[in-house]
Amino acid sequence: MKNKVLITGAAGFLGSHLCDRFIAEGLEVIAMDNLITGDLKNIEHLFHLKNFSFYHHDVTKFVHVPGEVDYILHFASPASPIDYLKIPIQTLKVGSLGTHNLLGLAKEKKARILIASTSEVYGDPLVHPQSEDYYGNVNTIGPRGVYDEAKRFQESITMAYHTFHGLDTRIARIFNTYGPRMRLNDGRVIPAFMGQALRGEDLTVFGDGLQTRSFCYVDDQVEGLFRLLMSNYNLPVNIGNPEEITILDFAKEMVKLTNTHQKIVYKPLPKDDPLQRQPDITLARKILKWEPMVSRGEGMKKTFDYFKGLTKEELYRSEH
Ligand code: NAD
Ligand code: UDP
Repeated sequence: MKNKVLITGAAGFLGSHLCDRFIAEGLEVIAMDNLITGDLKNIEHLFHLKNFSFYHHDVTKFVHVPGEVDYILHFASPASPIDYLKIPIQTLKVGSLGTHNLLGLAKEKKARILIASTSEVYGDPLVHPQSEDYYGNVNTIGPRGVYDEAKRFQESITMAYHTFHGLDTRIARIFNTYGPRMRLNDGRVIPAFMGQALRGEDLTVFGDGLQTRSFCYVDDQVEGLFRLLMSNYNLPVNIGNPEEITILDFAKEMVKLTNTHQKIVYKPLPKDDPLQRQPDITLARKILKWEPMVSRGEGMKKTFDYFKGLTKEELYRSEH
């Protein structure tokens, strides 16, 4: 009976939802995080459970957990552009050294490991929508290179452990995912717009707003990840919602959703900001029998309800 899972990045947005899911499945969860971008608040509701434990640890340092481990989900990494611009070296280290440590642990424990890769491995894609056989278009030395290349290395070393050591590995290429527990000030477009709406500020659209993204609600993402972990498929799989929208149209949608009549203002486009992004999920549909179920309208409403629940102090706290 497989029953013990180690989740890194567990105090973050996706990691905390994964903890909830594995607890709900009846597994024992070992959560690990160094709290560099995460918050214990996201998992404190699990602290009283006998089958939940938390290790405050930086996974770029040697990782050890006692006893058997059946599954490892490696989600530790800064994930938003302002985070990885602020801590570029840690971003490179967690994707490379951190992944190496967790692969070593998986080998020692004979555990199955799933790593959180990203649509950023496609960079500013020249192929649209992006399917798994596209090799990508990444500027290695650009500001986003620290994240994109760390994730590309992560995929390579994971495949090397699979082919050379026979390790049981899974690679999820996660596309923009949103939902409750995102950090208000992490700079990503959804918390940014929602925070601005709640504070009565203008919505900041970067560039002309004609760049596109495709947003996946967290419950759909977690279901896709769970199915991938339980599948027999070792090559990368895109997990995301193919419904694509320009950032400008999304800002307009946000004005309606929040009913706040905010103005839209334009700010410079960050360097190497991908022009278009949409997952081709043919593979996930076929091998995981998975596709997103939550519409953008429904998911955004749930997310906005979460941000509305923040205290005034949280809403006005600045990180910069
Ligand atoms: P997040 O910032 O909310 O969570 C990341 C967590 O990792 C944080 O709790 C942070 O403290 C922890 N962490 C970072 N470095 C660490 C280290 N060295 N040791 C231990 N813990 C460390 O971000 P998220 O959105 O939940 O992303 C989680 C994972 O999913 C990341 O690997 C990210 O690259 C990947 N991903 C997310 C998205 C998305 O849209 N949310 C898209 C693609 C990929
Ligand atoms: N963006 C924006 N205004 C903001 C924050 C982001 O217009 O206040 C844009 C950003 O330039 C990008 C898109 O929204 O084109 C998504 O950005 P995010 O950081 O959420 O994700 P990523 O670029 O990593 O996909």
